[in-house]
Amino acid sequence: MSTEAIKVTGARENNLKNVSVAIPKNQLTVFTGVSGSGKSSLVFDTIAAEAQRQLNETFTSFVRNFLPDQGRPDMDAIENISAAVVIGQNRLGGNPRSTVGTITDIHPLLRLLFSRAGEPSGLPPSAFSFNNPAGMCPVCEGLGTIVELDLDAFVDRTKSLNQGALLHPDFSPDSWYWLSYVESGLFNSDTALADFTDHEWQQLLHGETPHKIRLSWQGNTLNVKYEGVADKFTRLYIKKEDMSERSRQVFQRFTRSAACTACDGTRLAPAVRATRIDGRHIADLTAMEAGHLATVLAEWDLPHVKPVLNDLMARLRHLVDIGLGYLSLDRETRTLSGGESQRIKIVRHLSSSLTGMMYVFDEPSVGLHARDVHRLKELLVKLRDKGNTVLVVEHDPDVMAIADHVVDMGPKAGTLGGEVVFEGTFADLADADTLTGRHLRHSLPLRAEPRQPTGTLTVRNASSHNLKDVTVDFPAGVLTVVTGVAGSGKSSLVNDEFLSRYPDAIVIDQSSVTGSRRSNTATYTGLLDTIRKLFAKANGVSASLFSANSKGACENCQGLGMLYTDLAFLETLKSVCEVCQGRRFSDDVLRHRLRGRSISDVLEMTATEAADFFTEPKLRQVLHALTEVGLDYLRLGQPLSTLSGGECQRLKLAADLHRVGSVYVLDEPTTGLHMSDTRRLLGIIERLVDQGNTVIVIEHNIDVIKSADWIIDLGPEGGSGGGRILFEGTPADLLKTEGSHTAEYLRRDLA
Ligand code: ADP
Ligand code: ADP
Ligand code: ZN
Ligand code: ZN
Repeated sequence: MSTEAIKVTGARENNLKNVSVAIPKNQLTVFTGVSGSGKSSLVFDTIAAEAQRQLNETFTSFVRNFLPDQGRPDMDAIENISAAVVIGQNRLGGNPRSTVGTITDIHPLLRLLFSRAGEPSGLPPSAFSFNNPAGMCPVCEGLGTIVELDLDAFVDRTKSLNQGALLHPDFSPDSWYWLSYVESGLFNSDTALADFTDHEWQQLLHGETPHKIRLSWQGNTLNVKYEGVADKFTRLYIKKEDMSERSRQVFQRFTRSAACTACDGTRLAPAVRATRIDGRHIADLTAMEAGHLATVLAEWDLPHVKPVLNDLMARLRHLVDIGLGYLSLDRETRTLSGGESQRIKIVRHLSSSLTGMMYVFDEPSVGLHARDVHRLKELLVKLRDKGNTVLVVEHDPDVMAIADHVVDMGPKAGTLGGEVVFEGTFADLADADTLTGRHLRHSLPLRAEPRQPTGTLTVRNASSHNLKDVTVDFPAGVLTVVTGVAGSGKSSLVNDEFLSRYPDAIVIDQSSVTGSRRSNTATYTGLLDTIRKLFAKANGVSASLFSANSKGACENCQGLGMLYTDLAFLETLKSVCEVCQGRRFSDDVLRHRLRGRSISDVLEMTATEAADFFTEPKLRQVLHALTEVGLDYLRLGQPLSTLSGGECQRLKLAADLHRVGSVYVLDEPTTGLHMSDTRRLLGIIERLVDQGNTVIVIEHNIDVIKSADWIIDLGPEGGSGGGRILFEGTPADLLKTEGSHTAEYLRRDLA
């Protein structure tokens, strides 16, 4: 084994305080520490960023012209780094043509298989692709769905044409289109559409007239051809390629997407579906869950394509190994959660034979039930054993335990963090006098006396995705934790079924605060509005001058302070704006001061610093809420896009902290949280419940499960093997339940 180490000296990005560390090469190092302690600043912003920058330097100047000048991370030196592959939690693209099969490169192998072994033979591999003109269904062009007019949204059948039965704004009374129907002579414009005869209804939707109709509109007389509303809408809007953003939003209200009937949603041309192996076409296979598909392929006896089959099964096994066996290959990647996306990316890299790389993971255990964490650990170890250096930012003690080396950051968050407080083995960490060490030694007890519910919120006959027609009572006024392995149906039950029945619930998920790149802590919490007014008053100028999207903003970066470059397959590159040096505003604006500080100075303040600087009650209340949720270290101008999922959730909580009688839904709120952060979050949740709110949490975290008043456990497995309610009751009763992975996990933890 190599004894070399990656040596970082004097790292100072964000809150790092001259950090120097040695990270053993070809080993697995876990970075831990409270949220905001500086793990990402060290691992992503320093080590991975420098690796990327050095790689960029090896390109020709021509190529480099297309890459932003990233700047060297703030540090003295770094030695011995390798090329880095960063595997983060950002979701996989929004392109409907990207599926689990295409992104894992499993689909190309299936195409090869069908080209070689399909009956009747003759089609080349490319013909089996729905992204290729030869293979795609000609009707939906390979999308599997078509967009059609949503008639229920488009017409109000209780009204007549004169009363405005056509709801699309372009068809409203007195519009040109509306007139063509009213003046057509085909129907009575005072009759409610519900009273139209079948014939009239057909005429309205799809009618044609042999003659043109004469219309007077705004002083002109014109002869027009009659065209039914459905046909007109399809021609003018659905077939139209480019549309303004506003029209697109209107458009979406009046359309829905439906499975393409020509290909039954398979996306494929008839000839492709006619080509079969063992009675199945390629779309039959991609519709199967990956785990099931692997067992089907294992039974095929096709000696002449054995290598392809073996390769396919190996890749499918990777998917199963990482707890994604419940996904089908035709699942669109844009519907995957952050945790699922990250695990898909892991699968892609596992199949690669590169060695000597540095792989960097951001909390890979996100979304995984304890039952599946060991499989993830095996994969990380495998990656190391191939001769790679693996760096993992992680909070789960279960994952920390496999580290060859642990780097614990702290002692606290923000300006109170930024140091390495422990380096060594996991065993030694458990004895260390750091926040992590202390929490490893003290586990929470099971809640002794669950609260009594104040009512019931019932979800009846839920069957979206894999749910098996379940009926569930969510108790009101208590903390309910929904558990189960990945893919068991937790999100389907809570996010789809519960929320569609109780839409007033306040949802706090990982995506809830991601706004534009211009949004930051100050804009999101409303602090900036007040601060702008204070600046305006103190300087006798307009408040709008202090807005980052006004003419007072730096022109080069449009008030962002940073320049962003999107690179198709890599993470977006960002660099500090060289004109304003990240200050966001023009020099003129920066000359205006409030008690000696410029607007840029104020945006650089942390919530704590701002609480010392401002005396205004309105500001102090918000700043206090930020402190309560543990975000006192956030800088007011810090873009929301740089916040971790956990920080986003807590920011949203801070904005909602003072409600009573509401229902809160939290989706894996401990993502990105250290054990000590989790306990702080539990404190906030306790308070919400004690104030008379109902809190429903989807969680794998053992501390959260132990704190529940009520548990709803789904399973037993993911996908078609799940979707049932295994248990509803108190944590103490869950302990006595058989056949639940969650119960087993809880028993093991308490043993
Ligand atoms: P961790 O990964 O341990 O949660 P980070 O390295 O993300 O911590 O953050 C360390 C500190 O640096 C925090 O105070 C955080 O708010 C701040 N920080 C992180 N990214 C940025 C950024 N792009 N701009 C300004 N401050 C940042
Ligand atoms: P959990 O939240 O427990 O991880 P989910 O509710 O996300 O489980 O998933 C339950 C099942 O529904 C899985 O088989 C999953 O693949 C499927 N599923 C979830 N979302 C979608 C979707 N948008 N389209 C198709 N299938 C989905
Ligand atoms: Zn089709
Ligand atoms: Zn600028």
